[in-house]
Amino acid sequence: MSLVRRTAPLCLVVVCAGILLAPPVHTQSPPRPSSWLDPYRETAARLMQAATADDFAWRRLAELTDTYGHRLSGSDNLQRAVGWSLETMRRDGLENVRAEPVMVPRWVRGRESADIVHPPQHTLAFLSLGGSVGTPAGGLEADVVPVASFDELRARASEVKGRIVLFNAPFTTYSDTVTYRTNSARVASQMGAVATLVRGVGPTGLRTPHTGSVQYGMGVTPIPAGSVAAEDADRIVRLTAAGTRVRIRLTMEARTESDAMSANVVGEIRGRERPNEVVVLGGHLDSWDVGAGASDDAVGCIVTWEAARLMARLGIRPRRTVRIVLWTNEENGLRGATAYATTHAAHAADHVFALESDSGVFEPASLGFSGSAGARSLMRDVTALLSPLGLSELVAGGGGADIGPIAQAGNAPMMAYLGNPSRYFAIHHTPADTVERIAPQEVSRAAAAIAVIAYVVAEMPERMPR
Ligand SMILES: [Zn+2]
Repeated sequence: MSLVRRTAPLCLVVVCAGILLAPPVHTQSPPRPSSWLDPYRETAARLMQAATADDFAWRRLAELTDTYGHRLSGSDNLQRAVGWSLETMRRDGLENVRAEPVMVPRWVRGRESADIVHPPQHTLAFLSLGGSVGTPAGGLEADVVPVASFDELRARASEVKGRIVLFNAPFTTYSDTVTYRTNSARVASQMGAVATLVRGVGPTGLRTPHTGSVQYGMGVTPIPAGSVAAEDADRIVRLTAAGTRVRIRLTMEARTESDAMSANVVGEIRGRERPNEVVVLGGHLDSWDVGAGASDDAVGCIVTWEAARLMARLGIRPRRTVRIVLWTNEENGLRGATAYATTHAAHAADHVFALESDSGVFEPASLGFSGSAGARSLMRDVTALLSPLGLSELVAGGGGADIGPIAQAGNAPMMAYLGNPSRYFAIHHTPADTVERIAPQEVSRAAAAIAVIAYVVAEMPERMPR
């Protein structure tokens, strides 16, 4: 609540144009890495200093998540967070602040519970998966068949009919393990199962189930699907391994309602020379409906937005436009990303660079990059400016679900700000995704890094090679 209310730096348009840093002059061709960056060093240092001087970004993150809570697509919380973001961006002095409307799916969790009813009662730490159907009104009850993989399920196909399948695949990496959350209900339904449970997709936490999307596919009878905490999955496996029959009662009110209106939130620092060329940065404003969606992905919105807020505050107007987009519906539909790419299709080629922060800001963090060899070489030089932040390494694999469609259409290089995956996935899509998990300096340093990258890419004389 005690946000520092700065007077909006409305100087951008009228006054600051005269005091903007002189554009860098390049006299060498091709420039050497150590020297071509020289014209950017002073502004980069100012941005880093301003970003890390206080905990403004963390407090704004806390304001967003404390005031609006989690923000599932179609929820009132998300609509209110969209309104707050628009108003706050305008107050920051961003330009062309607007909502770009998008219709989004609306899934409602309702009440839910999962209990072992044999052997004697034990309530599971349980969350329905997003998009799941509910159980019949009185719930359903069945014995459990635990399997560790799809292969084991196929080997035990004759045991599955009429049962609840527990997919107990140990967490390795998110990309390897998430297939059980996404696809288990489809596969188990085809074998006659009445419901599926998935071991939480993340490292074993403090008995936290992890929600997230389930997909049924065409022609498949949808069956209720949920996630249980790793500790509860282990318990079921120990019991069944010892020969004990485990019976579970599931009650879920989950349902899908009509699509609802939502919006991508857009704000800019207009370019002073090439306003039509765009450096697009952002995260997604929607979240799952548990915890506060702080790490996934309120923080990604805040740290990218900070790049523009700091430019406005410091009177920095780069050559190209820096555009912040807070996307909607990343979690269960990607309608925001799709709508942005459609709305801006005619200008896809004007997107010179795209950066997404949707992997948290937990340190040690890194920067992922996808682009041509020429772009990578330039970006490797740029990241050398970030060594004061402990972030000078570029790893392969930039991109993000929200920037993907427009960047691919425009063939733009992509970058991802990548928080430490162990810390990120421990709370991912869980009730534990709250602002307490994130340190103020992690937010500030991420904002500083993104601001410097955005500034240099928007300022350099030639656009980034594709
Ligand atoms: Zn996310």
